[in-house]
Amino acid sequence: MGAGQYDRFDVPVTLSSDDRFLASHSEFEAWAKGRKQLRMEFFYRDMRRKSGLLMDGNEPVGGQWNFDVENRKRANRNKIIPRPLHFPPDRITREVMELVETYFGDHIGSTKSFGFAVTRADALNQQAHFLNHALAHFGDYQDAMLSDEPFLWHSILSPYINSGLIDPIELCKQVEQCYLNGNVPINAAEGFIRQIIGWREYVRGIYWMAGPDYVRRNELSATRSLPDFYWTGQTDMHCLSQAIGQTLEHAYAHHIQRLMITGNFALLIGANPQEVHEWYLAVYADAYEWVELPNTLGMSQFADGGMLASKPYAASGAYINRMSDYCRACRYEAKSKTGPDACPFNALYWDFIGRNEAKLRSNPRMAMPYKNWDRMSPEDQSALRRQARKFVETLG
Ligand SMILES: Cc1cc2nc3c(=O)[nH]c(=O)nc-3n(C[C@H](O)[C@H](O)[C@H](O)COP(=O)(O)OP(=O)(O)OC[C@H]3O[C@@H](n4cnc5c(N)ncnc54)[C@H](O)[C@@H]3O)c2cc1C
Ligand code: SF4
Repeated sequence: MGAGQYDRFDVPVTLSSDDRFLASHSEFEAWAKGRKQLRMEFFYRDMRRKSGLLMDGNEPVGGQWNFDVENRKRANRNKIIPRPLHFPPDRITREVMELVETYFGDHIGSTKSFGFAVTRADALNQQAHFLNHALAHFGDYQDAMLSDEPFLWHSILSPYINSGLIDPIELCKQVEQCYLNGNVPINAAEGFIRQIIGWREYVRGIYWMAGPDYVRRNELSATRSLPDFYWTGQTDMHCLSQAIGQTLEHAYAHHIQRLMITGNFALLIGANPQEVHEWYLAVYADAYEWVELPNTLGMSQFADGGMLASKPYAASGAYINRMSDYCRACRYEAKSKTGPDACPFNALYWDFIGRNEAKLRSNPRMAMPYKNWDRMSPEDQSALRRQARKFVETLG
């Protein structure tokens, strides 16, 4: 049902469009219509033109639409890492926490470290804190991961944006202003604005356009259950224990942890995408189906066959080792592919490539992995797939 007046009810009803978004459902559908492939980047450029954010007339500020190549630096501990503000629970919040402990005390997670803002004023305090202390490095370290550092230079604003405490367009204008004032570099400002007027708007458009059957899609016919450690964090794979552990403690993990650690692992073992979707919906403070489902089912599990993303986000231990310091503290060896100490992500990655060959080989963006797969001897391929099978059996 679109915005407008409706006379089929007993009372006069006016539906207004949601002014927290730049594109209405019908605008997104008009953009998508007739396109062979939907790609966020092109939609994002239209949103830049429409909003005027980081635009110099008809051209993007800085001469490029996207500065992502600068945004893949590995983090180190030499820089001061800002912590998000912690808001001591007020009386009402404490009462709700007690209620949750009373009725759901045996559920996963805990209320102990709850420190989210619950008012607009405090949400704005967190927004200002982010702009002043973290935004400058947001771009550089957007994909980085460090042990026991759950937040890094991320904004921790999604729960407030999604619940309406913060206006995303107003926030983007302030980010733009920080750039214009010379306080933050272009890769930080552009990278942040792209997440909001690009990705956030794009996944919303896909969700409403795809309709109620989207949730049932399972392109790769994945049926395995998620391992129990998704509910406890207790695994000797350090990357997973970190990403899941902080999720259970803070109801937060940043994008790359969701996509390339928990999501990647579920994709590689062939976990049922509906079960994965339910997990993401249950564990994060910012989870609303319209944003969570396309991110999980489409981007992370490739269960929509590439409607949202141009290729599966599947990666071996090499990626995690490059972007984090997790592997240093892990009992597995990130560089080994087979044997008892080999990082499980390695054999699982190649098993994923081998197992889904019929569906993925023709994807031009998968040309490189299949070239590398073809270079391996049949014996090496079998050894990797055997190793993956043996590992998956241990998951129960
Ligand atoms: C499997 C999976 C599930 C996800 N589930 C959710 C969810 O339920 N709710 C949710 O808001 N985001 C979800 N995301 C997107 C993203 O991970 C979170 O928005 C982000 O981690 C929130 O933390 P932050 O506020 O510190 O974000 P920052 O890294 O500081 O990014 C700034 C803002 O950009 C927006 N944003 C960034 N990436 C995305 C994206 N891919 N889709 C939509 N908005 C984005 C968010 O509003 C975020 O607050 C999911 C991503 C994946 C891979
Ligand atoms: S070695 Fe493998 S399992 Fe261990 S932290 Fe690195 S990627 Fe994760």
